[in-house]
Amino acid sequence: MRIAVFNTKPYDRRFLVEANAPYGHDLLFLEPRLEPATAALAAGHQAVCVFVNDTVDAEVLETLAAGGTRLVALRCAGFNNVDLAAARRLGIDVVRVPAYSPHAVAEFTIGMMLAVDRKIPRAWARVRENNFALDGLIGRNLHGRTVGVIGTGKIGALVARSLRAGFGCEVLASDLHPDPALEAIGVRYLPRDRLLRAAEIVTLHCPLTPETRHLIDGAAIEAARPGLMIVNTSRGALIDTAALIEGLKCRKVGAVALDVYEQEADLFFEDLSNEIVSDDMFQRLLTFPNVLITGHQAFLTEEALAAIAETTLRSAADAEAGRPLEDRVDAARMAPSK
Ligand code: NAD
Repeated sequence: MRIAVFNTKPYDRRFLVEANAPYGHDLLFLEPRLEPATAALAAGHQAVCVFVNDTVDAEVLETLAAGGTRLVALRCAGFNNVDLAAARRLGIDVVRVPAYSPHAVAEFTIGMMLAVDRKIPRAWARVRENNFALDGLIGRNLHGRTVGVIGTGKIGALVARSLRAGFGCEVLASDLHPDPALEAIGVRYLPRDRLLRAAEIVTLHCPLTPETRHLIDGAAIEAARPGLMIVNTSRGALIDTAALIEGLKCRKVGAVALDVYEQEADLFFEDLSNEIVSDDMFQRLLTFPNVLITGHQAFLTEEALAAIAETTLRSAADAEAGRPLEDRVDAARMAPSK
């Protein structure tokens, strides 16, 4: 199959080329992001392969359909950037990689939690300057803390299990479908507003849907326990960034770890170190000593990249052969996501 791979980074190319050996797809690697201005580059390709911040709205899908594209293959789990109704109307199938490595994201989440709480990046910056003073680096034990996990699907369940069984936390959870295996190890499901009022740490692992957009907003922060730590490795828009900044300024929010950011599409995955970044909200976030930000890298492990490439290319082969698409994103079934 002829596949136009948008938004290609060196690591995408490496893992896709390696995984393509048994499939023999014709891969066109494109550096630009998929958006209305670049969609025509896919003309003549039956599939496009895209990532989290590519724009796959109705306008883009119409250009793709006119150019002969019949498959959008997301090399990620989330699909909030795709207009599924438009895709269906235009006869374009959408596939994703639902579970390339939940361990990659879950482990990174725990890493961020520990890093921000124990001030590891700040300590490292000091040590590099031969400053071995410990003042200002006091953290808290994770053991015994009350952690709220919002979304206990593949990733959230691993985080909840690790916190409960590994660290001995009191784990509260909120999900549309409680997981009996987690309940069996003592994870307690609560309605989201009660969880948000009770937790000392909240970690987000639900998808971005109209219902979950800004689930951490001014009201949630106001109702939260003072000093709340918020960890988000899911999707940026789960948090109202302006409200988060206010929460940090008035010291209601005690620590924040973000691997995703509401307006990340204009920033992440690019080297902007020689540029002027005009996103004032992001720049403000960077000024807080108790905020840790990474650029959407929770998924970035050897294992995950290999699994993403394999699943994506297998879906393309299935589409080409007319086989059922195991990882198809179904607009009707996934209604809450768009
Ligand atoms: P999943 O589909 O296995 O789990 C999502 C869970 O959220 C499900 O159990 C679902 O019932 C629950 N949910 C849906 N709506 C909810 C709501 N309103 N309130 C509470 N729970 C709700 O997904 P997953 O593989 O665990 O991934 C979770 C999220 O992580 C994805 O949506 C994606 O956005 C994000 N993600 C981020 C990275 C990264 O690199 N930072 C990588 C992969 C996935």
